[in-house]
Amino acid sequence: MKNNTFKSLFLGISIAIAATASYALISPENPRSSFSSTALPIPTILLESTFPAVNNHEITKNEVVKKPEFNSISHKIKHGESLSTIFSKLDLSKTDLHYIIHANDLGKQFASLSTGKNLIVKTDSKGLLQQLVYHKNAIDTLKATRINDSFDVELISKPIERKITSTQATISSSLFLDGKEAGLSDKLIMQLADIFAWDIDFALSLRKGDQFTLVYEKIFVDGKEIDSGNIISAEFVNRGHSFTAVRFEEKEGSASYFTPEGKSMRKAFLRTPVDFARISSYFNLKRKHPVLNRIRAHKGVDYAAKKGTKIKTTGDGKIIYRGRKGGYGRVVIVQHGQKYSTLYAHMSSYKKGQKVGSRVKQGQVIGYVGMSGLATGPHLHYEFRVNGVHRNPLTVKLPHAKPIKKSLLAEFKKQTQPLIAQLNKVKASHLLAQNQR
Ligand SMILES: [Zn+2]
Repeated sequence: MKNNTFKSLFLGISIAIAATASYALISPENPRSSFSSTALPIPTILLESTFPAVNNHEITKNEVVKKPEFNSISHKIKHGESLSTIFSKLDLSKTDLHYIIHANDLGKQFASLSTGKNLIVKTDSKGLLQQLVYHKNAIDTLKATRINDSFDVELISKPIERKITSTQATISSSLFLDGKEAGLSDKLIMQLADIFAWDIDFALSLRKGDQFTLVYEKIFVDGKEIDSGNIISAEFVNRGHSFTAVRFEEKEGSASYFTPEGKSMRKAFLRTPVDFARISSYFNLKRKHPVLNRIRAHKGVDYAAKKGTKIKTTGDGKIIYRGRKGGYGRVVIVQHGQKYSTLYAHMSSYKKGQKVGSRVKQGQVIGYVGMSGLATGPHLHYEFRVNGVHRNPLTVKLPHAKPIKKSLLAEFKKQTQPLIAQLNKVKASHLLAQNQR
């Protein structure tokens, strides 16, 4: 399911868009306020001082403001330009360039400029570089300032403010379109899909009328919204089944999503080992074999995919077999703890650097799709065994990834209960609004 996320975001379930969405700012200091969801532009660069340009460079009237002492120009970085080529164009000293890049750890950042951004170059009346300013993004500015014959480079970060907001949407066409309609950025839609990817197959099982409620952060700089932050809590109702997730930082800087009870939203196994593949044969204990042409149980799922498509192990484990095995052709078997094992067959080749005994992580590539052994075309034959018994990989109940550590459970409840309460409040207010319509 996880693998289908990207694909499914752009697949519709037909019918035109009609998402319902609304915003309510739930900031602790101002619980009643609300604001518009309109995206505000990223602040434009303001120049502090300049004389008219000395160079025959692109300068528009708006960019130049008169003031003595310095010439200041704003250079828009073009594709393929580096600081070195810009210095040549502006007739600046290469020695200064060297001093800037090697000024300190930050200096190197001037070596990776992004196309389309502006570089502000300030020179004195003799044409000597005095300051170089690069607005990396809405938050960070890199500034190199001359001190005698050398330069000091500093990174100035504007304070960011996180505001909590919420939205609710009903699916009428696709997660992507309805998410956009609800005012969510592509990034936020991807985050939402990622959280629920283990429970909901967004390509196949999304239905008109499915609903999601989201409590998330918006990031503001200088009072302007510049980006979305984290999803704090979310609920997705898919075909009448409700899934709730809440964000929790287990360690400093590493957050994951859990159910309100503290179970991981992730599963110990991915549902499918290949991306963008089509299922060409299902798990079927009474299948007529396409090559042998007689009844022979099909104890796995076949994914038709181009030769060479990456095959990923669906869970953390250890390779216990890697080699040829009759009709399976080139096969890899991964053991996951005591209870589970997975098998990947008909490979064209194995992933280099792995062998029997190698530890593999969920999602790690172990080989490539092919048609070795008994196969009519390139495909992956995938088996899932529980205590040695073949189970249908598409329907077997997958175990959750590791839950919250017992020692953290009390802290988890304390931190997340208010977040769940907030989500419920948003749901209740939308329900009320719907009933009053
Ligand atoms: Zn098969």
